[in-house]
Amino acid sequence: MKVLKGARLIDGTGARPVEGAMIVIRGNRIEAVSTKNQGEWPREAEIIDVSGMTVLPGLIDCHDHMANHRYDLAHRWGIDEPESTRHLRTAAVLRQTLLAGYTMVRDAAGLDSGFKRAIEEGLAEGPRLVLSISIISPIGGIGDAMSPSGDCCCVPRDPLLPSGVVETQGDIRPVVRRMVRAGADVIKCATTGGASSRPGHGPRDGAFNLDETQALVEEAHALDRRVMCHALGGRGLGIAIEAGVDSIEHGCYLDEDPGHLDRMAARGIFFVPTLLVYEYHRKSPQPHVRQRADDLHEHHLLSIRRALAAGVKVVAGTDAGGHGHPANAGELECLVKAGMTPMQAIEAATLWAAECLGRNEELGSVEPGKLADLVVAAGDPLADIAILRDPHRIALVVKDGAIVADRRAGLSAARSG
Ligand SMILES: [Zn+2]
Repeated sequence: MKVLKGARLIDGTGARPVEGAMIVIRGNRIEAVSTKNQGEWPREAEIIDVSGMTVLPGLIDCHDHMANHRYDLAHRWGIDEPESTRHLRTAAVLRQTLLAGYTMVRDAAGLDSGFKRAIEEGLAEGPRLVLSISIISPIGGIGDAMSPSGDCCCVPRDPLLPSGVVETQGDIRPVVRRMVRAGADVIKCATTGGASSRPGHGPRDGAFNLDETQALVEEAHALDRRVMCHALGGRGLGIAIEAGVDSIEHGCYLDEDPGHLDRMAARGIFFVPTLLVYEYHRKSPQPHVRQRADDLHEHHLLSIRRALAAGVKVVAGTDAGGHGHPANAGELECLVKAGMTPMQAIEAATLWAAECLGRNEELGSVEPGKLADLVVAAGDPLADIAILRDPHRIALVVKDGAIVADRRAGLSAARSG
């Protein structure tokens, strides 16, 4: 048994912070949350004093690419370093992400199921993983690797991952099944181009048609998998919403059709804007990427404000990987700059995020009966959300009831020094 005592608790539900909270953990679950002193603790109880600090649910990133480390083509095609080096690099990122307070990550393609298995077996350290394996898109879509003139023959493909390229409508269901066979917990697809995709396949250019997207969603749901859909704008964005995907990833031009957000609210479709990656794209060395990112910026911010007003849940995802792996909580800072309150930004990375992943029965808030994933921050994230992206301010990380990082000693030394 572990007892965290003296904390300011932000429980992830959006409720006001509670001072002097006591959180009792038994095994891997939260047994009790209270402000009353329970009197005597059993002798074996480990009492952890977190006075003056803030306890939050373990943070969740709903859109990350843990196995990607750069945007350049040689890296994307896997020819810049041996696969073993890349895997060790990925393992280091998984560990660093957990130690920074992120106890669950949804990988938006690129990570194979072996990493999840290694973490579950204790071979490696990392967050709980929700995997999508590969992006499903049609010929010419964002998941179709080819040379700039359209040649595919010599592009090496990672043999660890199934191909997500759909050639004909009849391929859709088998491709979905292949992802599930390879360990996909969620199906990732793309109905538009993106900021970083090739010239000619930009944010408002479509990919799948409505029939294809509906078949994909139907097959995924039949296999109890949610669908996360990369969709920025134009016709493909409306198609994704109409087909009933479960989350819109990026959604930069949601403001352009007033019906989009109303339909998302009515259907409970989540919005994962991934603001952090566009900060990077706005400084891209490639002119077409820079221009797309500049063009969508104001629309993206307006889309977030309108989404909140319409009752659409906005959740945190970094789309990290191509732009390296900066602190995931940088996204929370972006969300606050975009107009969310710090409390909403915390919900976006805790309970709303868990809902988006379909894991809110067990995770996403500090409540009795839930799995004990917690993060303790030195300071008040409601006063300054940026403290969550400073690893030195992350005093304690608990995953599945076990302490995986404890920097409290360093913090008190820093205070007294
Ligand atoms: Zn992505």
